[in-house]
Amino acid sequence: MPRRVVILGSTGSIGVQALEVVAAASPDTFEIVGLTAGADGETLLRQATEHGVDRIALADPDAAARTAEGWMGETLAGPDGLVRLITESGCDLVLNAIVGSAGLVGTVAALGEGIDLALANKESLVVGGELVTQLAQATGAAIIPVDSEHSALHQLLAAESPGTVDRLILTASGGPFRGLQAAELATVTIEQALAHPTWSMGGKITIDSATLMNKGLELIEAHHLFGTPYDQIDVIVHPQSIIHSLIQLCDGATLAHLGYPDMRVPISYGLHHPERVDVPAMRPLDLAEIGTLSFEPVDPVSFPCLRLARAAGLAAGTAPCTLNAANEVAVHAFLSGRLRFVDIPAVIEATLEQLPAGQVHSFDSLASADGEARRVAAGLVDARATR
Ligand code: NAD
Ligand code: MG
Repeated sequence: MPRRVVILGSTGSIGVQALEVVAAASPDTFEIVGLTAGADGETLLRQATEHGVDRIALADPDAAARTAEGWMGETLAGPDGLVRLITESGCDLVLNAIVGSAGLVGTVAALGEGIDLALANKESLVVGGELVTQLAQATGAAIIPVDSEHSALHQLLAAESPGTVDRLILTASGGPFRGLQAAELATVTIEQALAHPTWSMGGKITIDSATLMNKGLELIEAHHLFGTPYDQIDVIVHPQSIIHSLIQLCDGATLAHLGYPDMRVPISYGLHHPERVDVPAMRPLDLAEIGTLSFEPVDPVSFPCLRLARAAGLAAGTAPCTLNAANEVAVHAFLSGRLRFVDIPAVIEATLEQLPAGQVHSFDSLASADGEARRVAAGLVDARATR
């Protein structure tokens, strides 16, 4: 029996690579039973045709209406359409590759139905970590991380007995601005920020990597995925992106997960788990060719986002949701040329100051915290843009 899979955000960087992994698998390994995107109906329709999918969903209702014209399959629209696509699919696995807190709906729909979740959308865990992990526990659904560092940790931790792991160490490439002083960051351009040295990814996560907010989001993600207290999770800059993460054990041993930076590896792990299969055209690691693996601490002055994320994680409640929403607004403003790179952390910090952490009672309280943070952050962006 093929594994029935729904891919959320299939037109993006992770989604496209996931469809490559599916196409490369031996026949009858996977059956794609649903694909979704934000607004790119044209690409979604092409993917649906190629993979024999007859049900798709688009977040944007206009795009959904246009796409539905002249297509024999079914096109669902909006967040409700996304939920229906998942809950009515009878699938075994959902791969969530949506960007941003918009992915939370899909995470909750899958886990609520007890469907296993291969999770690239780290924002789901940042925004709703406690509720999301409680939901998975309640329904018995597994969350298999697709983020490369967390995929590495998932593999490293699988072999260890409880109580033997002292620390998790997340590696960070340092992004395109590693080594720059805070003053030098004031004039960096969108193009420079989008030029990531080691990974090719969607726009939002590429900017998150340049500010190091990506590592901040990943810190919170790791805390929820593995139940590890924040003071036992470290971050180290490793520019070559060959070591994807490490764990330190009680007997002094440190274990690392290595590989070339290629997202098809963690995507394949997430889709095939618990099996492990060949990833086509994957070169074996050649350490002699790489020569040097180097490490350095994070510069907290040039890259305050990691500190902001750690503080929001520790504050808990609505704070990580506020952090994430403010970051999404600030990154969007930077990518539209309305905010300077150095003002991204400034907007996030000011938003967190204006909105102290509240308690999270339900997914509804997260939705209102998200909306409130977006309003405050947008006001702060406007104030800076018109100065
Ligand atoms: P992307 O921007 O390339 O693609 C995002 C996908 O989400 C697209 O299919 C888009 O149509 C869809 N989408 C956008 N807005 C939406 C909305 N409001 N509602 C529903 N769908 C929407 O992003 P990406 O780089 O593929 O990243 C996806 C997720 O995976 C992010 O959470 C990112 O942090 C994580 N991730 C990505 C990489 C990578 O290499 N790209 C690595 C690790 C983790
Ligand atoms: Mg990552």
